[in-house]
Amino acid sequence: MAFIEPHSPRWFAIVDRADRAFARTVRATIACEQSAEICTLCGFPPLGDFQLVEAVTIRRQVPSLRLCECCLVDRQVAGETLVAHGGVLDRGGDPDYRGFLGFWKRITGRLG
Ligand SMILES: [Zn+2]
Repeated sequence: MAFIEPHSPRWFAIVDRADRAFARTVRATIACEQSAEICTLCGFPPLGDFQLVEAVTIRRQVPSLRLCECCLVDRQVAGETLVAHGGVLDRGGDPDYRGFLGFWKRITGRLG
């Protein structure tokens, strides 16, 4: 399946059909933050875009999510299968970020 960019018109067209309330919430968050470069779920600065391969808590039809670190970990814990799309933000030497890198490599490794 082709990757559909989170928060793009095409993404909203799909999510509107899949989960109208969810689409409305995301639209409100984008309007509030005045930017689409936000985490789909919480509005924080995002880590990157992720294709939703196997949905658990998110509607199955939702094609992708733009997620921050917390929401990514949270979705993984919930059992969702997500594949990173495109580049990853390099946060450099932030020590709190180091523990996350092993976890991140597991996800990005799936890209081959
Ligand atoms: Zn988030």
